[in-house]
Amino acid sequence: MQSRLEKLYRKALVWDAHAGVFPSPEVDLNLLQEWPDCGVDYLSINVGFDVMDWQDTLATLAAYRHWVLAHANHFVLVGDTEDIDQARRENKFAVSFDIEGMNALNEDINMVSVYHALGVRQMLFAYNLNNAAAGGCHDHDTGLTEFGKQVVGEMNRVGMIVDCSHAGYTTTMDIMHESSKPVVFSHSNPIAVWDHQRNITDDQIRACAATGGVIGVNGMGIFLGDNDVSNVTLVCHIDHLADLVGCEHIGFGFDYSPKVDVDIGVILRSRPDYWPAGQQYDTQGIKHAGPQQLEGLVENLADAGYGDDDIRGMLGENFKRVAASAWQGASA
Ligand SMILES: [Zn+2]
Repeated sequence: MQSRLEKLYRKALVWDAHAGVFPSPEVDLNLLQEWPDCGVDYLSINVGFDVMDWQDTLATLAAYRHWVLAHANHFVLVGDTEDIDQARRENKFAVSFDIEGMNALNEDINMVSVYHALGVRQMLFAYNLNNAAAGGCHDHDTGLTEFGKQVVGEMNRVGMIVDCSHAGYTTTMDIMHESSKPVVFSHSNPIAVWDHQRNITDDQIRACAATGGVIGVNGMGIFLGDNDVSNVTLVCHIDHLADLVGCEHIGFGFDYSPKVDVDIGVILRSRPDYWPAGQQYDTQGIKHAGPQQLEGLVENLADAGYGDDDIRGMLGENFKRVAASAWQGASA
């Protein structure tokens, strides 16, 4: 017999706003099966980040897009939230793509609609360091550039979720001021609970909520605490967000990756500036909360006093609300 909370979880829309799968055409995407096996309905898959050349992002997007379309019996590349509803009815796993940082645009505004046409539905402005569009969270705190402002407008126009994770404080406040649609932090935790440069201040959280946006709780142990990925710690982060802005602005972007066959270390060692010293990136055996913790977490949330609607909102309805608004865009 299923318990009441098991039923709640099985029936709920479950949304993971960002996977940390290392973006490379070499990655075997059969690993994505771990998400639907854990009851996840939709995942945004990362196809590139600023550390890569923009051509490598495009090649990864091409490979991942081809793979998803070739596995149409089980996977759906979604363009809007109705496609997610349809995928759930057909018992298929819904995915779209995201890019971490604007180097992928090669300073060409027209690339935004190209990526959109190929299935990218969420873009971040920087990946830790500054670029032509924005400031990164581990760099000098410069704001959004003129090019970055244009990109916000173009993302609003074509229909992409504007994502502030990995960007610097001033840039994020500029983005949230510029955007005409709700803005998210797809995978960022409150700095008030755990002090890390990748985490975000109460100001940023309030500004995000004021756009109607959502903050996705990140599962990486060094962003949650002292390499601590327990459900109790996840609930601490959720409690802080709920106290500050309410449950309707909370979701999950676990940043989780199953093991991949690519030698990530070669790339990480080649650009240590993206993961600066003193930020715990050199922690041995970094742990990661992922989708396999979600069903149990529902019990923790219920024990902590969250109601069924609040829990359903956090599991997916909140991000879906943002996507329903942000993904309405022009066709060209
Ligand atoms: Zn990230």
